[in-house]
Amino acid sequence: MFEKILIANRGEIALRIHRACKEMGIATVAVHSTADATAMHVRLADESVCIGPPSAAKSYLHIPSIITAAEITGAQAIHPGYGFLSENAKFAEFVGKTKVDGKPLVFIGPKPEHIRLMGDKIAAKKAAADAGIPVVPGSDGGVTSDTEALKVAKRIGFPVLIKAAAGGGGRGMKVAKSADQLSEALSTARAEARAAFGDDAVYIEKYLEKPRHIEIQVVADSHGNVVHLGERDCSLQRRHQKVLEEAPSPALNPEERARIGDITAKAIKTLGYLGVGTVEYLYEGGEFYFIEMNTRLQVEHPVTEMITGIDLVREQIRIADGLPMSFRQKDVVFEGHAIECRVNAENPQTFAPSPGKIIDYHAPGGLGVRLDSAIYAGYSIPPYYDSLIGKLIVHGRDRTECLMRLRRALDEMVITGIQTTIPLFQRLAVQPDVANGDYHIHWLEQFLMGNAPEG
Ligand code: ADP
Repeated sequence: MFEKILIANRGEIALRIHRACKEMGIATVAVHSTADATAMHVRLADESVCIGPPSAAKSYLHIPSIITAAEITGAQAIHPGYGFLSENAKFAEFVGKTKVDGKPLVFIGPKPEHIRLMGDKIAAKKAAADAGIPVVPGSDGGVTSDTEALKVAKRIGFPVLIKAAAGGGGRGMKVAKSADQLSEALSTARAEARAAFGDDAVYIEKYLEKPRHIEIQVVADSHGNVVHLGERDCSLQRRHQKVLEEAPSPALNPEERARIGDITAKAIKTLGYLGVGTVEYLYEGGEFYFIEMNTRLQVEHPVTEMITGIDLVREQIRIADGLPMSFRQKDVVFEGHAIECRVNAENPQTFAPSPGKIIDYHAPGGLGVRLDSAIYAGYSIPPYYDSLIGKLIVHGRDRTECLMRLRRALDEMVITGIQTTIPLFQRLAVQPDVANGDYHIHWLEQFLMGNAPEG
């Protein structure tokens, strides 16, 4: 087993990876920007290396500095977390080509070819369809002209969604409700995609009106084992970004769960995928439609851990070291219900970022409460990175117990000095539609606009 792992990330996920390493007896190396010198992931790690100034481009995204940090500390593997370099195929390749103490450095994640394939959403959709996964009806590949777009839109029917091939974080997505909106939607989506990703390739999909976002967690090792760990329902979103996630989905029955789980696991095996990954679907009218695959650990992975008892980071490390995963499909049992709230340092009404110094901090606890966070009293949240400051995850024997526990855990949590989205979750936790599990991907935005959303 690896003796030392470098964690190429910051915040709660860096701490999450550190915790798995410690439980496996592995030493950790933290890397950090000058803005993060006093961050908790740096304080807890066995060693730390400052890799640059606050700007992510010059620190957490700066490949040569990270590789050098691994070389000077003698780390044998790099865990990229999520975001930053986690889906950068060139980084994964570069890590594999680097030798530390005469041995290749190991990238804890999938093969570069799969990162590359799934990073191109047009190619990913084709590969998924070829592997037997149901996809959203749409263009066969990229679309460049208005005439081509109109032809596709007429075939699949309006409304349609124009999406960036290099997409991520909901950017470069535009809806066209009718033919007269198509040309403008196409050019704005392309311009946005070019600005965000330096690539203006876009494709067209049928715009689903009230789907749920349901994703399947998969794990594959180098011994031919492929397992699915059920679904997460991530339908509560704002600007195509997940806000609250839960497992199991209140919308699926056991047959549907087993069916989509099996289809996904078979496809993953066909693709020869390695490591943990998530296949994302939209679910409407009893049907699943693939939208993308994430070739990394997800922010919301703890809800799956809570209902399965499986430590996904531990499995990632085992698999990267060439070991088989520690369980088989028959060992996977879903117990109870879990909900995660993404707590952001933001104004809970306007969502304006609220960096600054935390004065008081009290973390909730008790049975079934997990808080993945790297904050502490006296810590100053730097303004340079995303505003996620922690994830509150609660587990209960059933969904009702889980919701009651969520309410009391939110009421116990104290963070002063900055604004957080805790009040939003307190409002959500008492909404009848949330209590009934009756929501879709547009529910939260309608709720925030003050309109009574249709379930
Ligand atoms: P990104 O990579 O930018 O996150 P995704 O393809 O994962 O993009 O989609 C993000 C979100 O956008 C989905 O969870 C869903 O809310 C919405 N979305 C994506 N495709 C469609 C579609 N065809 N119809 C309706 N909503 C969609």
